[in-house]
Amino acid sequence: MNEYDSDIVRTILKRHNFAFTLNINDADIVLMNTCAIRESAHEKIYGKLSRLKRIKRERELIIGLLGCMAQNLKKNLLEENSIIDVLVGPDSYRTLPELLNQALRQKKSAMEVTLSEYETYADIIPEQTNGVTAWVSIMRGCDNFCTFCVVPYTRGRERSQEPDSVITEVKQLAASGIKQVTLLGQNVNSYYANGFDFSDLILRVAEVPGIERVRFTSPHPKDFPEKLIDLVATHPKICPHIHLPLQSGNDRILQLMNRTYTGKEFSRLAESMRKRCPQLSLTTDVIVGFSSETEEEFQDTYALMENIKFNAAFTFMYSERKNTIAARHYNDDIPHNVKVDRVSRLVKLQSETSFELNKALIGKKRIVLIEGNSKKSSDHWVGRTDENIMAVFPKTRQLLSPGQLVPITILDATSLTLIGHHDTI
Ligand code: SF4
Repeated sequence: MNEYDSDIVRTILKRHNFAFTLNINDADIVLMNTCAIRESAHEKIYGKLSRLKRIKRERELIIGLLGCMAQNLKKNLLEENSIIDVLVGPDSYRTLPELLNQALRQKKSAMEVTLSEYETYADIIPEQTNGVTAWVSIMRGCDNFCTFCVVPYTRGRERSQEPDSVITEVKQLAASGIKQVTLLGQNVNSYYANGFDFSDLILRVAEVPGIERVRFTSPHPKDFPEKLIDLVATHPKICPHIHLPLQSGNDRILQLMNRTYTGKEFSRLAESMRKRCPQLSLTTDVIVGFSSETEEEFQDTYALMENIKFNAAFTFMYSERKNTIAARHYNDDIPHNVKVDRVSRLVKLQSETSFELNKALIGKKRIVLIEGNSKKSSDHWVGRTDENIMAVFPKTRQLLSPGQLVPITILDATSLTLIGHHDTI
């Protein structure tokens, strides 16, 4: 979402004749789009700010902080960091050209962090650079108020973008050569606009000529619609990959987190998804060390992951966020070393599971969308299978290019990557 927002900001500023450089020595303004989801994201920004402070001592430089950290910490950030000139929250990017011009002219700091119930940036189609795949934001904000999560406070209330505006954006991306779009929202299955629910929308997106693959992230397990599972299972352009955030496998912790499902309900949902779509790749997010989580409760998460066998999982140590319900009502009382131990056990389990599932694909054929050269070798292409698993394969004499869908046979696998060869036709 932040990458997408950075593209929105770039598009707004270009419309106001700001030019961009990636070389800080050429820049009059440095903008950082920030995340507030974990403390480590904040620390990265504090580190960058202290480096920028040194540059700012030597020459004039406007420093702007955008996004969720700006929204959540507001004035505190300006007071603690005298080098910040402009602070703008995720719903206020349209004010940025004026605030930057003010900062350039008047040399005084400015802040705009009002949250909106309506802003979806529907008229702004951001420039995206990779040329093969693109994000499309279909909604902003979230009304779920999971107790650990800062998003409802930094991105505001949930609002959906009109289907016509989404389709216009997808058509424009297709015309520019984009082959795969990922529909993006904090809780995509509660999308609703103009009589369209998420299943109606994704179906329309999949019908846009030129778009070969449609993905989405993230749905909430509490209200995953049956008809969406059927679309994922049957529609040739809707990819068989669902990212379904679990967060915990223990019912008391899930209740403390306000996730509104039990471990059993989650397992049943995962099972029914796999039954209807045997090729499905299921990935997840898990938090360990949430307030008061005991070893036995952590074991429930471990057992559930062992049982479901996710294809991949993002595992995190709980990091208390300012202003959240958990920060106000619960203690962040699990020692750091216990969190580290629990997360390490999950990482090990997941890596073994991913390896086992990827190995089972050896000898099978998959279609890969080529995204570019492999980072390790320009003699190899890298792309992704339908299930969103990274695949590399050597270049052959047949002329291929990024954006092409090609068949490969899988010859080997690691926990993260499939290694194949191109099946020439
Ligand atoms: S659904 Fe996701 S974005 Fe919304 S509050 Fe829960 S964790 Fe945060």
